[in-house]
This record gives sequence, structure tokens and C-alpha cells, in this order.
Amino acid sequence: MDGIPGILQFRARFGRQTVAYPEGPARFPERFRGLPVVDPRAGDGGRAGAAVCPTEAVRDAGTPGMAIDLGRCTFCGLCEEASPGAIRFTRDYRISGRTRDSLQVNGAAPLLAAALDEKARKLFGRSLRLRQVSAGGCNGCEAELNASGNVQFDMSRFGVAFVASPRHADGLVVTGPVSENMREALLKTWEALPAPRLVIAVGACACSGGIFRDSPVQSNGMPGVPEIPVDLWVAGCPPHPITFIDGVLRLLGRIEGDSLRLAGTGIVEPR
Ligand code: SF4
Repeated sequence: MDGIPGILQFRARFGRQTVAYPEGPARFPERFRGLPVVDPRAGDGGRAGAAVCPTEAVRDAGTPGMAIDLGRCTFCGLCEEASPGAIRFTRDYRISGRTRDSLQVNGAAPLLAAALDEKARKLFGRSLRLRQVSAGGCNGCEAELNASGNVQFDMSRFGVAFVASPRHADGLVVTGPVSENMREALLKTWEALPAPRLVIAVGACACSGGIFRDSPVQSNGMPGVPEIPVDLWVAGCPPHPITFIDGVLRLLGRIEGDSLRLAGTGIVEPR
């Protein structure tokens, strides 16, 4: 069949491609790693894991205060291999927080970003336009942010979309460790956004410098750019599109609660 009927028939064969999230389960690849759980009393207490961690993200191994800094973590899995039992990664994709410190986790509680205040939710909650600045990273985060808008994840169904000009944006999304060459461009983009404006730091580089941390030609991410206040920190290297979307929806107050039981499905996602 040709023409428009043929196109419609072709499309109908594909069925619905968009993930059921948030009403139903999102699909994650087998190798996906989410929120880690640590147990300093198990195995070697996480000491070998701390020793092999390329970003020094494992803190206070073997002590009751043991934690993993998801702002630094690249989710490489080396610590889990080195310290089985003491460190385990779950498939909980909800790993964003309102403060940089909140990304220090031990897995005892889910990491859920709190919502903006009511005035900001009224302003941004139904429609949020974002300008993205790649501040010197590897472009892995950009690839996932790009995927957030594709037919599978389709964040525009929540009224969230990227725009080309900061003048048309309500918020700034920053990726990368903020290299020296991108610092001025980032600050200028921030100044071009009309107030009030949100800022979202995405990925290990933007949260801490990631694998570039302490290089002299970058700023260790947004903590090194105090001129720009961050409203949401999204962990990952890179974050999965659903992690990003979930963080934004929680920031906007569109998703609440900490249950992994997904509304209406009876499905409890494995942790
Ligand atoms: S998964 Fe994260 S905490 Fe573990 S070794 Fe890799 S970077 Fe370090």
C-alpha cells in the first residue's frame, strides 16, 4: 500500500514504542547499575573496592560511615567485583538529589530529589524549557540527554524539552567538568537565561569533575562554579535517560514517594 495509508499501516505495525514509565516499568539493559548498597560488616568491608576505585568515590570503607559518592562514581563496577558482599549495585535508577552532599549514599534509603517550592512548581511544573551546555565532557551525557527526547523516552510528553536559545529557556542543564575553555561560555549562557531559572548538573563530571577531577584545566564541575547555584544534581556516567527524566519530574513535583511499586502495575522493580 502506498501513500499516507501505507505510512499509517507501517507505523501501526510498530505499536507503542514509548516506555510505560512512570505509570509502568521502564526497560533497562541487563548491565544497568543504579543505586549502590554498602555493608561495611560484610566481606572485606569494601576496602579492596575503595582501593581500586578510579575516582576515590568509596568513602570510609570498613567503618559504619561507609558511603559511595555518586557525584564521583562512574558506575564502572570495579568496587563490586573487588569487594563482593560489601558493595552491591541495585537497579534503582532514582539517583538524583537537590544538594551535592545528598549524593553520598550507603543504600539504606532511596535517593529521591525533593520538589521545588510551590511557587516554582506553579511556574515550571507544566512546561519546562531547557538549554544544555556541554562544558568539556566526553559527550556521553549529551547522547543520553538526546535520547531523553526520542520516541522511546519522550520527555516532551511531560512538557519538558530542550531549546536552542538560552533566551527561550527556563533552565540550564550542564554536563562536563567545566573546562577552562568553556567556563566563560557557561557563565554567559547562565546570564542570558531570564530569571527565575533552574540549573541541573548532569553526570559525574558536572557533579565533581568525574575522571577529569583535579586536572588543572577544569573546575571539578559545578562545585567549582559558585556563581551558578545548582537546583538538581543527577548522578551517572552517563545517567540513563529515565534517571534524568525521573529527577526532573521529582524536582517539578510531578512524581512523589519512594515506593518502587509502580502505580497500577503491581510490579516491584528489583533493587
Ligand atoms: S562503580 Fe563507582 S564507586 Fe565503584 S569503583 Fe567504579 S567509580 Fe568507584
